[in-house]
Amino acid sequence: MARNFQAELTGVLGSPVAENPTGAMLEAAFAALGLNWRYLNIEVPPEGLRAAIDGVRAFGMRGINLTIPHKVAVMEWLDDVAPDARMIGAVNTVRRDGARLIGENTDGKGFLRGVRQDAGRDPLGMRIAVLGAGGAARAIVTELALAGAREIVVVNRGVERGARMVEDLAAKTHARILFEPWRGVFAPLGFDMLVNATSIGLFPDVDAMPPVDLAPAPPGMLVADAVFNPPETRLLAAARAHGLPVLDGLSMLVYQGVIGFEIWTGRKPPEDIMKRALLEALDVAVP
Ligand code: NDP
Repeated sequence: MARNFQAELTGVLGSPVAENPTGAMLEAAFAALGLNWRYLNIEVPPEGLRAAIDGVRAFGMRGINLTIPHKVAVMEWLDDVAPDARMIGAVNTVRRDGARLIGENTDGKGFLRGVRQDAGRDPLGMRIAVLGAGGAARAIVTELALAGAREIVVVNRGVERGARMVEDLAAKTHARILFEPWRGVFAPLGFDMLVNATSIGLFPDVDAMPPVDLAPAPPGMLVADAVFNPPETRLLAAARAHGLPVLDGLSMLVYQGVIGFEIWTGRKPPEDIMKRALLEALDVAVP
């Protein structure tokens, strides 16, 4: 029988990409399923994006991820963009549909899957507070709104940015999304879930804690953090100390990779292998 030495290509385009750990997860999954596929971290400056997408087409790449600074700019060079990615206004994953390149956004979907699979909760009917109004917050709020959250309150330091995001997403998703300027300490009264989608607590500022008072939180309120480095942020440690359930940022990171694998290969992802590879790549203790 003729042997097939052709590798199928996937990867991430961004700048910088050297420390992006998604490839460790994807390559472990390809190997586990015996697929001759590769995931490459490809450094592409802003002015090189258009040529890079031409390269994706010329190489017949199966799919790519986009990271800073390309998530918005790439939309111009694609053939179509999925409705939720269009609402979010950013693409982090491109899939191939024949010769066409289609933009998707798996950040918010990854978060949602973590809430369902790892925390065992359904956002349907929930009242949720989201801290932050950057790219991660946009993706998370959009997917929570589409998943049927009853009310989402976005709390952000920058008033203009927060108010603009809320107005835009409320109009696009037709969900009840409200804005609250972040003044002093935020008390999550009457919420089912609190999400930190700011960069507070991100390495190297590991001692930073979002100004939040967890004492008045209802029992059972889920506290989720988008920050994955370190996985145990001060916010999550404080939530545990208050006896509240927590969801770390690694969950969102793993599931955006899991969803990417599903989209690109059409195969069932080996989730445990992917999680383990990610933890090893990030040098986090493997349970
Ligand atoms: P952005 O830079 O787009 O947004 C940052 C947000 O944090 C803004 O709302 C900003 O508020 C807020 N913020 C930052 N510092 C402070 C502060 N000192 N006090 C109050 N608010 C503050 O970042 P992203 O949205 O891209 O990323 C946010 C976090 O999510 C990062 O830690 C990132 O690593 C993480 N992330 C995790 C993913 C995962 O898979 N787990 C995926 C994507 C992101 P303001 O508008 O007032 O400046």
